[in-house]
Amino acid sequence: MMNDFSDQKVVISGASRGIGKAISLAFLQQGATVIGIYGSNKEAADAFMAEYPKFKERLQLHQCDVSNPDQVEQLFNKIEDEFDTIDILINNAGIRRDKLLALMDHDSWQQVMDINLGGTFTMCKHSVLLMLKQKYGRIINITSPVAQLGFAGQTNYGASKAGQIGLTRSLCKEVARKKITVNCVSPGFIDTELIADLSPEQVKAYKKTVPMRRFGKVEEVAAAVLFLASKEAAYISGSVLDINGGL
Ligand code: NAP
Repeated sequence: MMNDFSDQKVVISGASRGIGKAISLAFLQQGATVIGIYGSNKEAADAFMAEYPKFKERLQLHQCDVSNPDQVEQLFNKIEDEFDTIDILINNAGIRRDKLLALMDHDSWQQVMDINLGGTFTMCKHSVLLMLKQKYGRIINITSPVAQLGFAGQTNYGASKAGQIGLTRSLCKEVARKKITVNCVSPGFIDTELIADLSPEQVKAYKKTVPMRRFGKVEEVAAAVLFLASKEAAYISGSVLDINGGL
């Protein structure tokens, strides 16, 4: 049955807030065990755990900086000890450090690349090694329309998100025969804290650029992720699924 994830183990980065939290909840509601990762906001992670006591047997939230290969390796060692393998990886952790390129300091470039793209690489590497044991897996990388359309002030973010698409298309070829699929989901403007710094004027202007004239909901992104993560999506790999109101 599509969307039955009972007994499946899902690793989700950026699981404590925004889109990642909605993806985590959607998987939990369909019976999965969720091994979530957050960066530094323990309060948000604790609040998530406290909000859903009914999922406490199947929800773990670990502090782990995805841009730190040692921390990721340690976490995957723990995951392997406890679960042996995983079925699904969602690379959702992401940050923005917007600045016009001419004014951008190197740290803002590097941080965004290290978390958004470096994190995707490291998480994929450890997940693939576990998935190969069972010759099954689903990897979904959360990219952005900025990868293809561009956006002034987001050369770092756009490059990292385009990099995720390149990684996806190459990795899918490496693992296709092992029944592991690798895809991207590309959300447009979605109401989360990531874009909470936009002024009311900017929100109004950006909504005008969306044919549906509204921002998307986190649940609308989660639904697409669950589809690509389902067993039924077995012949979809290397694709980018846009969830953007027709942008
Ligand atoms: P968000 O609300 O800002 O949440 C970001 C999540 O990522 C948080 O759980 C955060 O944990 C985690 N995170 C950040 N840095 C991390 C690190 N170094 N290691 C581990 N986890 C880290 O963001 P969102 O809007 O849900 O975005 C999720 C993804 O969707 C991102 O990849 C973003 O680029 C993409 N996206 C979003 C939009 C949008 O309009 N919202 C549009 C297109 C694409 P802490 O809170 O602990 O730091």
